[in-house]
Amino acid sequence: MEKKAFITKEQVEEIVKKFPTPFHIYDEKGIRENAKELKEAFSWNKGYKEYFAVKATPNPFLINILHEYGCGADCSSYTELMLSDAIGLKGGDIMFSSNDTPAEEFVYAAKLGATINLDDITHIDFLEKTIGYIPETISCRYNPGGYFSIANSIMDNPGDAKYGFTTEQLFEGFKILKAKGAKNFGIHAFLASNTVTNDYYPELAKQLFELAVKLRDETGADIKFINLSGGIGIPYKPEQEPNDIKIIGERVHKAFDEILVPAGMGDVAIYTELGRFMMGPYGHLVTKVIHEKHIHKEYIGVDACAANLMRPAMYGAYHHITVLGKENAPCDRIYDVTGSLCENNDKFAIDRQLPEIEIGDYIAIHDTGAHGFAMGYNYNGRLWSSELLLKEDGSVELIRRAEEPRDYFATFDCFPIYEKLKQK
Ligand SMILES: *Cc1c(COP(=O)(O)O)cnc(C)c1O
Repeated sequence: MEKKAFITKEQVEEIVKKFPTPFHIYDEKGIRENAKELKEAFSWNKGYKEYFAVKATPNPFLINILHEYGCGADCSSYTELMLSDAIGLKGGDIMFSSNDTPAEEFVYAAKLGATINLDDITHIDFLEKTIGYIPETISCRYNPGGYFSIANSIMDNPGDAKYGFTTEQLFEGFKILKAKGAKNFGIHAFLASNTVTNDYYPELAKQLFELAVKLRDETGADIKFINLSGGIGIPYKPEQEPNDIKIIGERVHKAFDEILVPAGMGDVAIYTELGRFMMGPYGHLVTKVIHEKHIHKEYIGVDACAANLMRPAMYGAYHHITVLGKENAPCDRIYDVTGSLCENNDKFAIDRQLPEIEIGDYIAIHDTGAHGFAMGYNYNGRLWSSELLLKEDGSVELIRRAEEPRDYFATFDCFPIYEKLKQK
């Protein structure tokens, strides 16, 4: 599928008068349309709820947009809980799916009335000792081990993942939790990441539905919800076929009708914790070309760096690039597009076919709406960019200001650099 930027050169030229590059910009219209489609795809399930994975894009303005479509928040840390609390999300709107969890995070999650999703059998005792009781509603994360395959093709390797209970532990854990007073049970599993196929959720659902029937039969646990978690991916590359959420919803429905309904479990709620799918395509990192360099290869230097978008440097991930205003120019040049970090892997693109680029051009790096800004870091003293929202009416709102040196130095209480410089 052809990948088109959701902003134009003319729009960026207006925006930079107020908000300089680099910035992450989010497309409100796209976010809303997608959230609506997801909701419709699972509307057959009475209790359906999406808990947006806050870690993907921890911005209250964006989470609030999703909340209008009934979405809650999936948190896995203290500050993510704080963010959800500040937005005003209540217990039933928060899923706490963490691992290697510090005690104070369980305390906070319990105080908010969040649904706690335990990552390990030892966390049953840890939770009980920490908060003093076992909540009536509780969920456990499942890890079947081995490989997760669909039609003989391996999608991911849960056997190598640190998360979840083994099958045996899950049966044991449900019995223990029930004896300790838990009444409403949930099952959670995240077995493959960034899947660009309509097969993942239906296959996962089938496995979890069969497991749920067995768990109910053997432990007597009243299973109220099954959480398919994240993992629905997005087509980062132009040649990838996007997922069709309507088909995915229909096929999960079919598995539900074939397995849960005949077992008398037709009232089980389906939950999801999508992050990438909700936001990924609706964000661009917009950056300006500030240098070109001709040595053993052709380099284009931009004013963003891996501190603003880590995925290419960290995973070699492909992010499509549009040179704004040159959408229809022939891609007859080959460039490495680089940031300024003193790290040779700070490259947004390697050997990429692009139109001829000039200093001053604006570049939109695609699919940065999830796991983009959020993974930012401060190496080389590089600062975080601003986050902007392109609203449905075409106006632009600042939803997080850019980091400044005073923010970067703020934690030096013991050597207040910023204050010292101000006095000079
Ligand atoms: C990261 C994560 C998600 C979201 O994953 P995506 O790939 O962004 O959909 C959901 N649940 C948990 C527990 C996660 O850690």
